[in-house]
Amino acid sequence: MSDLAAAAAAELAALEAAGRLRRRPLIDSPDGRVVQLRDQGGRRTLVNWASNDYLGASGELTVRNGAARALRSFGAGSGAARLLAGGLAIHRRLELALARWLGCEEVLLTTTGFQANLAAVTSLVGDGDAVVLDRLCHASLYDGARLSGARLHRFLHNDPADLARVLAGCAGARRRLVCVESVYSMDGDEAPLAPIAAVCREHGAVLLVDEAHALGVLGAGGRGLCAELGVRPDVLVATCSKSLGSQGGIIAAAAPVVELVVNRGRPFIYSTAPVPAAAGAACAALDLLRRDPGLPAALLARAAGLRQGLAAQGWSVPAGRTPIVPVLVGGEAETLALAARLRELGHYAPAIRPPTVPEGSCRLRLTVTLAHRDADVRRLLKVMEGIRKKEEGGRRKEEGLP
Ligand code: PMP
Repeated sequence: MSDLAAAAAAELAALEAAGRLRRRPLIDSPDGRVVQLRDQGGRRTLVNWASNDYLGASGELTVRNGAARALRSFGAGSGAARLLAGGLAIHRRLELALARWLGCEEVLLTTTGFQANLAAVTSLVGDGDAVVLDRLCHASLYDGARLSGARLHRFLHNDPADLARVLAGCAGARRRLVCVESVYSMDGDEAPLAPIAAVCREHGAVLLVDEAHALGVLGAGGRGLCAELGVRPDVLVATCSKSLGSQGGIIAAAAPVVELVVNRGRPFIYSTAPVPAAAGAACAALDLLRRDPGLPAALLARAAGLRQGLAAQGWSVPAGRTPIVPVLVGGEAETLALAARLRELGHYAPAIRPPTVPEGSCRLRLTVTLAHRDADVRRLLKVMEGIRKKEEGGRRKEEGLP
């Protein structure tokens, strides 16, 4: 074994000992509702509680057909970056459709949502500027902030008063960019966007809101939490990889802001444009939402049923209304054991551990989608109730109680 391979193996062993080793599952996914997990030589069908395909769009025939049409018309790959020969009509069609739907001046499509955040943040701030992030912001916002060369500051999660304090402390910076998510990916909670926007206005700061988990989920027709609250951020970032059942990052802003990202955003400039099928699928998913603006409400109703059921059983489930339903467990070992037990019982919900979430807040992150059936939720609740009762029985026995 080379020195590097031996060092890597030692690092992996340390991760495993800490309960933090990650492995790639092998999944055949006939639709968004179930996964077929291949493990130990077999293939098992499990109900999938780990997908962000909130509306079940990726499995919809019209969305698959949208992908197929784009594939046939434009080919399998885009062949080049957008600014070279990869700027296809299907990309522009999606940008224009999103701009019209969101009611904003201009939209830029990037290859992934991660790249959208990298490109937006690094285009807007640099040396001499400050980026102020909510503590729980996604890795892509943190990485964009670090790459930008601006000074990185953090404020307490969802705390506008702390944001005001941090902004006052970096008043000397040339430009101050505040980054928040509208729905946090691992907690499913919503940002108090109106007070956050007010603090930004008061301090002359620029506001970027990542709506990755809110698009298609909240707001009229699924237009997101900014739309619901009437907040207009300077930059709205989102992704086609969740409710739009496809792939590709979205940056929505005033036209000059978007054009600046086109000229400065290295993750956009130097990466091959999204594959045509991804853009075609996202166009079709957007049509789906426009035709049936009631989809988000149906999703929230299903999420409410699961959240209420789990809370009634005594699980630690934070209040909320989004389809991200975290079940807080605590340590790595207990969370891995709970995930393994669920898997034995037919449900797929991986354990979420640090560094994705803070120390001591390991959890199952359950996501409800419209691809599920009501019976799936009922079955999961029954299984979770059984596990809970067994745990309680074990505890009482340990404490010598009858
Ligand atoms: N922002 C947030 C809040 C996310 O949760 C994610 C995906 N996990 C991204 C951005 C990145 O999006 P994509 O998967 O399209 O790269």
